Formats: sequence, C-alpha cells, structure tokens
Amino acid sequence: MRFGSHISIRDGYLGAARHATKIGAKAFQYFPKNPRSLSVKKMDRHDASECATYCKEHDLLTIAHTPYATNLVADKDQIGLVIDSLLNDLEIANECGSIGVVVHFGVLKNAANPLEGYQRMIGTLNDVLSRWDGEALILLENNAGKSGPTGTTIEELVQIRQLTEYAGKIGFCLDTCHLFASGVWDGDNWSEVEAKGIELGYFDHLKAVHLNNSAYPTRSMKDRHANIPYGELKIEQVNEFLASTVFGDIPFVLETPHESDFSHGDEIKFLNEMMG
Ligand SMILES: [Zn+2]
Repeated sequence: MRFGSHISIRDGYLGAARHATKIGAKAFQYFPKNPRSLSVKKMDRHDASECATYCKEHDLLTIAHTPYATNLVADKDQIGLVIDSLLNDLEIANECGSIGVVVHFGVLKNAANPLEGYQRMIGTLNDVLSRWDGEALILLENNAGKSGPTGTTIEELVQIRQLTEYAGKIGFCLDTCHLFASGVWDGDNWSEVEAKGIELGYFDHLKAVHLNNSAYPTRSMKDRHANIPYGELKIEQVNEFLASTVFGDIPFVLETPHESDFSHGDEIKFLNEMMG
C-alpha cells in the first residue's frame, strides 16, 4: 500500500519529494504555500516541475492541502480571496504533478437557512472550476463535526459533487480521524460505511486518504489526530479499514503527531509491517 505523510516544503517542492523517499514514503502531502495565509504565491516553476519529474521517476503520488483559512462558504467580502487562493493552489499542485488539492467541506454557522451553506459552496466550486482547466482536481474532505454536523457524511460529499457543473474536476479525500470522530464510522461498522460508499459511488472518486487515528472517541466531534497505534481506533479496526478492497492505488497520508521518538518514517514502517 502507498503510505506516506504530510511533509514540509521548507526545502522546496523537490526537497519535500526527496524527503519523502528518505523516510520510505510512497506518497506525500504538502502545503503549496504558507498555510496561515490566503495570499497568492508566485511559484518557483522550475522547483515545481523538478518535483513532478522526481515523483514520476521515484513512483511517488502527491496531494496538496489548501491553507487553513480556505473557507468555501466565506462571506462576500472574503470569497474573492478564497477563490484566487484556491486557483493558485491548483496551479502549484498541477505544476508539481499532484493528483489534486484537498479542501475541507464548508460549514456555514448560524445560517437562517440551512441550505445556504450548501448553495454557497456549490457557487464557489463552480466559480473556481469554471476558470480551471488543469489536471489537478479539487479533493473534498469530510469534516470531523467540530463546527456542526455539516460535511461529515458520505451522502453530502457525493451530492455536492454532483450538484456542481464540474463534477469531473472534483474528487474526494477521506480523513479517517474525522470519519471516526463524527460517528459515521464508529470503529465497528466499517462494512456498513463501505456498502454505503459503494452504493453512492463515493469510492469511484476517492483519490486520497488522510490516515489518522483519533485522540477522542467516536461521536466526540473533535478533530484531534493521533498516531495509528495510539488512538481511540483499535489497531484491528484500522486493519479492517486498510484491508478493504474499495481503494485503488491511492495515497494514504499520515497527518499525525511526529515526535523524535516516533517519526513519520517510523509510523510508515509500522504500517508497512502491519500490512505485511
Ligand atoms: Zn485531514
């Protein structure tokens, strides 16, 4: 299986790719730019295209992750910034040869009309994708539920994709911590979740997994990632998930704590040994 982790671009995109091979990763995720800002970055095209070449040569698959403030349901005065930033992320990801850019499902809090959040999100996606004709996809990620239940279910993800005008440019990224924390996967009902995902066509468009354990129990709605052997999901449950036949050759990316005594390299090794 294609295990990897989130990697810093401190040493550039190519540097991140080199680091990935060093720690035994077969995939990685990176922030295309400063994750704390929505400002548009002038990319180093040379570095990005070298990253793409290196990844091809070393059989590495990559995904990018949008900055934290990328809110698909932002207010009128903010949404322009979000759209420009997301187009910039797509351009960088495309140049780096990545599958796509991960963005969280938008949650509109305290809306008078609960449909408004979904409508705004569809509008933002249409706006961005009408101006995008590269290969890189937008990868919608399921929420943990910390800002309310919106965007936690497979049904919502599939529906939103279908309701846009550009479904072909949208895929999914499944976060296992969020799926567990939201209660959709309680650790014991994987076969039901799997059956629903198959029925709705979710897995046909699943392009990446954020492979995280959860520091809090199922239905806690808390988004706190834990290392695979040290979270509320039992190792047998993680095993059952990974043994599922619904996944193609996609990245399984760790977004877990990485201390010196248990690095991402150690965690990837642990996963590879666990999967035999
Ligand atoms: Zn995630």
